[in-house]
Amino acid sequence: MTDVTETTDPTAGPTPVLAVVGRPNVGKSTLVNRIIGRREAVVEDKPGVTRDRVSYDANWNGRAFTVVDTGGWDPDARGLAERIKAQAEIAVTLADAVLFVVDATVGITDHDEAVVKVLRKSGKPVVLAANKVDDERTEAQAYGLWNLGLGEPHPVSAVHGRGSGDLLDAILEALPETPELNYDPPGGPRRIAIVGRPNVGKSSLLNKLAGEERVVVDDASGTTVDPVDELVHFGGKNWRFIDTAGIRKRIKEASGHEYYASLRTATAIERAEVAVLVVDGSQSISEQDQRIIQTVRESGRALVIAFNKWDLVDEERRYYLDREIERELVQVQWAPRINLTARTGWHIDRLTPALERAIEGWETRISTGQLNAFLGRLVQEHPHPVRGGKQPKILFGTQAGTAPPTFILFTSGKLDAGYERYIERRLREEFGFVGTPINISVRPREKRKR
Ligand code: GDP
Ligand code: GDP
Repeated sequence: MTDVTETTDPTAGPTPVLAVVGRPNVGKSTLVNRIIGRREAVVEDKPGVTRDRVSYDANWNGRAFTVVDTGGWDPDARGLAERIKAQAEIAVTLADAVLFVVDATVGITDHDEAVVKVLRKSGKPVVLAANKVDDERTEAQAYGLWNLGLGEPHPVSAVHGRGSGDLLDAILEALPETPELNYDPPGGPRRIAIVGRPNVGKSSLLNKLAGEERVVVDDASGTTVDPVDELVHFGGKNWRFIDTAGIRKRIKEASGHEYYASLRTATAIERAEVAVLVVDGSQSISEQDQRIIQTVRESGRALVIAFNKWDLVDEERRYYLDREIERELVQVQWAPRINLTARTGWHIDRLTPALERAIEGWETRISTGQLNAFLGRLVQEHPHPVRGGKQPKILFGTQAGTAPPTFILFTSGKLDAGYERYIERRLREEFGFVGTPINISVRPREKRKR
């Protein structure tokens, strides 16, 4: 079960995305930590240690946004300039605004100039951070960065926090109120991310789905489609596939690096409503599959799991797969599972109903009356165990949001993790919530001051 921390507003919709770019070692991850106010992004003195996690929730002056740290790639790999450019290109594709970090103590390098070109071309708002301005003495060095032609450099010390408030103000100014890419007109095409390990058959599935019915995007309809997205018609309606460029072979080989793959996956999930995790049914469920599932759960997106290459699954494999599903996929038992063969198109018609069920679960709302009647029954059937002579009570519950369903429970004390899981299980039995993670946030009543 995912905890909704106090800092995130469960009623909030999708948040605008800020991507952080810059050469290795300029202090991107240190700055990300400063911005999110936690030590979550891994900072190591070894430059560019690969990081699994790329996107983080941030909040400044009551406004929520998502920070994507594009820094976790291996600078020892061949073609540094090429990679920096690719990183910047990905960043501008996925972000609503870009934070460009330059080391003020080093000044402008050729690599910085290359990034500037990409940023300019994109037309996305850019905030320029002149990092490592640790004291007044070094402040003058920041002024040299006016020469980049990106406007005012904001002197900041990621390590000490100096100037970070002003920088955050500038970031908020650059970010749109609502993320552009995340909104389609109501009733518009649903956003799907096809995700999974390399070679599981993602592009085969996409191609099969797109078939001959590739939709030509009509600008007049008011639907804006990012160049990396594609409208595909199947199962009687249009769907918007997120980041198809990343799925299609050509681009996949061009980018190559594993880190880009995970960055793309995470951001595609972030922008989607529902993720289709494609798994190679003929192979064991892997740790990488698990990591993607974790990302989907953390992002609060709906999930459908497609076991592809079913033509290669014999009876014996099927036996082991069932065991693996029981063992490895307990956390997402709620996700609809389908078996298909992308290569021939066998069973791909089962995707539409699975997607529809998942989206329906994701958007399910139950009334406060229904919820509290249910909670009353639940407590009667199975009260919370007594802890230290006390028995926490659930006083009142409300569904604060949908997509994913988010519940707030006001209680007289902290609930056991096991009891929270029990509540989630019973919620699912009672109301469905197929295909969606559920957030339950417990708010123990404040102790009265004597
Ligand atoms: P990244 O590769 O761009 O993500 O850079 P890191 O955040 O890993 O930082 C690279 C190095 O610069 C680390 O040793 C940091 O401690 C150091 N660093 C980062 N920000 C500052 C700063 O504001 N001032 C100083 N003096 N050092 C910094
Ligand atoms: P991606 O890397 O996830 O996009 O995977 P691809 O779609 O490129 O497929 C990788 C390989 O698996 C290719 O050789 C495909 O022909 C093959 N493949 C895809 N779907 C199936 C399937 O349903 N059955 C079998 N046997 N092979 C498949």
